[in-house]
Amino acid sequence: MTKKVELIYPPGEVHFVGDGFRVHNFIPSRYGLDMQRMSPFIMLDYGSKHYFSPSAEARGVGVHPHRGFETVTIAYKGRVAHHDSSGGGGIIGEGDVQWMTAASGVLHKEYHEESFSAEGGDFQMVQLWVNLPAKDKMSTPKYQAISNQQITKVDLGENVGLVEVIAGEYQGHKGPASTFTPVNMLNAKLKAGAKASFSFPATYNTCLLVIEGSITINGTEEAELDHLALMENDGKEFSLEAKEDSIVLILSGEPIHEPIAAHGPFVMNTRQEIMQAFHDFNSGKFGFLD
Ligand code: MN
Repeated sequence: MTKKVELIYPPGEVHFVGDGFRVHNFIPSRYGLDMQRMSPFIMLDYGSKHYFSPSAEARGVGVHPHRGFETVTIAYKGRVAHHDSSGGGGIIGEGDVQWMTAASGVLHKEYHEESFSAEGGDFQMVQLWVNLPAKDKMSTPKYQAISNQQITKVDLGENVGLVEVIAGEYQGHKGPASTFTPVNMLNAKLKAGAKASFSFPATYNTCLLVIEGSITINGTEEAELDHLALMENDGKEFSLEAKEDSIVLILSGEPIHEPIAAHGPFVMNTRQEIMQAFHDFNSGKFGFLD
């Protein structure tokens, strides 16, 4: 049975996270894309392609905490630098992914990489928050740097394109990211006129974000550049056809059926755990970062 499109969202208004991340928020602020509906994807900020002029000072977001989930940053244009209090960090460029498991708590900062800032250029990225089940929320923080080279590529043929598997799998090919619950995170890079099919369990929450080009879903629904398509939880299979050379981020994950208590940078199961997070943060338990 076909997995149908539930709704297609235009990118909507822009806001800045710090002074470096000019984003459209889809999850959880848009109608029908709240945290429970999209679980385990509890936040999706999309920085559509935007030119940043040269800057002597690197733009970004200063030191801030997270607890209870993972942050995943995918760079499509430009370069992002990241440092966290667990010792994780690095620079990601086009096609690379950083997967930070905040879990029990980290401090981190996220910036445009210095030489990119100095030169200026196009910047395009996605930041996702992936929720953790209650049993893993207080586990040890960790950091996975995933270069584009390490990302699994499934070749669909010369005139079709390829599917990059960041996490989960496509046609039996597994991606490099380790996840706590089942998550599929793919980039479909399709040539103009090419078609590809995907299949995920009906119960998995699934959405598609058009990063480049434009597509037709299931032969009927058109999704333009920078639009997000929310898929229904009915059937399993859907098809994408690229109207021009296109890149589509595909997210499909098993929902975590637990209560969500979210406040700012903390996402836990109960209000009491949120208060504990503020208390621990204020008493220095998240470590130290310059
Ligand atoms: Mn952050």
